[in-house]
Amino acid sequence: MKLALLLALVLPLAAQQTPAPPPPPAPEPPPAEQEDGVRVSVLGYHDFSETAPESEMIIRTSKFRKQMEAIRNAGLPVITMADFQAWKRGEKDIADKSIVITIDDGWKAVYTDAYPILKEFGFPFTLFLYKNYVDGGGKALTSEMIKEMQKNGATIGSHSVSHSYPQSHRRKGAEAYDKFLKLEFGESKKFLEQKFGGRVTTYAYPGGIHTAEMDPISKEFGYEHLFTVLPGKVRRTNDDHIIPRYIILGTHDRIFELATGFNEISGVAAGANPVIAPQTTPHPVQPEPGTTVGSRLPLLSADLSGVQDMDPKTLTMKVGGFGEVPAVLDAETKVLSWQVNRRLRSPVCQVAVSWLDSKGKPPEVPLRWSFRIDPEASYVPLDDGTPERSSK
Ligand SMILES: [Zn+2]
Repeated sequence: MKLALLLALVLPLAAQQTPAPPPPPAPEPPPAEQEDGVRVSVLGYHDFSETAPESEMIIRTSKFRKQMEAIRNAGLPVITMADFQAWKRGEKDIADKSIVITIDDGWKAVYTDAYPILKEFGFPFTLFLYKNYVDGGGKALTSEMIKEMQKNGATIGSHSVSHSYPQSHRRKGAEAYDKFLKLEFGESKKFLEQKFGGRVTTYAYPGGIHTAEMDPISKEFGYEHLFTVLPGKVRRTNDDHIIPRYIILGTHDRIFELATGFNEISGVAAGANPVIAPQTTPHPVQPEPGTTVGSRLPLLSADLSGVQDMDPKTLTMKVGGFGEVPAVLDAETKVLSWQVNRRLRSPVCQVAVSWLDSKGKPPEVPLRWSFRIDPEASYVPLDDGTPERSSK
């Protein structure tokens, strides 16, 4: 259209003299871009236990069984990742309402608790494994367990090499970030393919965190379908790089209900993944407004070097759930910061920084922002393989 318009402007004479030919029929979009009315709910699980305290990341084994029963009783087909991918490419039709089951990280309880149930129900599932935790000892799955599950319905997808969150690497600059991403996408794929055979073409972003720099790299390594943790039903037309997925939390039953409800309400359960409106702050702050952080103990800071007139004695920082906190102002850099010293519990953290000028007046634009905490953050294994579980 733009070209036609441009030509019409550049060549007004020609356009007047020759009757315009009828516009060519719009080409048929390839099947993958055609909306077919199908909705797929991708469920994401982590760890399972009948005895450990329930948490977001640990679901009761008996509750998991009940959920699988609910899926079967509702007549919702659980499809393989291969079928999901074929549908997404436009190569295959699937049932209007379908379920895909995925399990992240590679906890041993996948084998001891979830797998027997999945096998009993005949439900296929995908294991998103990260290289450094396979055969990691302790609570990690072993290669043997994974290979056995492969024979009974498990597909392997990648969940990176190190499971580290991208923000800190991205801050080091484009070159360092590029190197980091190539390692995480490339080495994990190579490792999993060599160890377990087949092609690995799916990826679950650690913490669900996706940045635009990832897209050409994941494509270069041959990944086709990449999953976030943003809840919602998958349509055939969804961007393959940011496929929605419901993370089923052990403590929030509503998310499972939404995921399997197919009631067209874009599923945002209370407390699951609250949507944060885009925000701008009058001064630079960390964590950046609206972003998701991979730690429940982040450093909060506000760069106040641009504030012209401030009475430092009136400066305060308030944090949701904490009230006023003892933030420190660096006299030289004018950066006010506070290290969160107790795990943030809510999925969203709000911060407000306020002060008065020498005349006792507050700033015209208040400095307030919020960011999101990845629920998985409290459940990432430490280097020694023990999970960073919140102490009870
Ligand atoms: Zn994970």
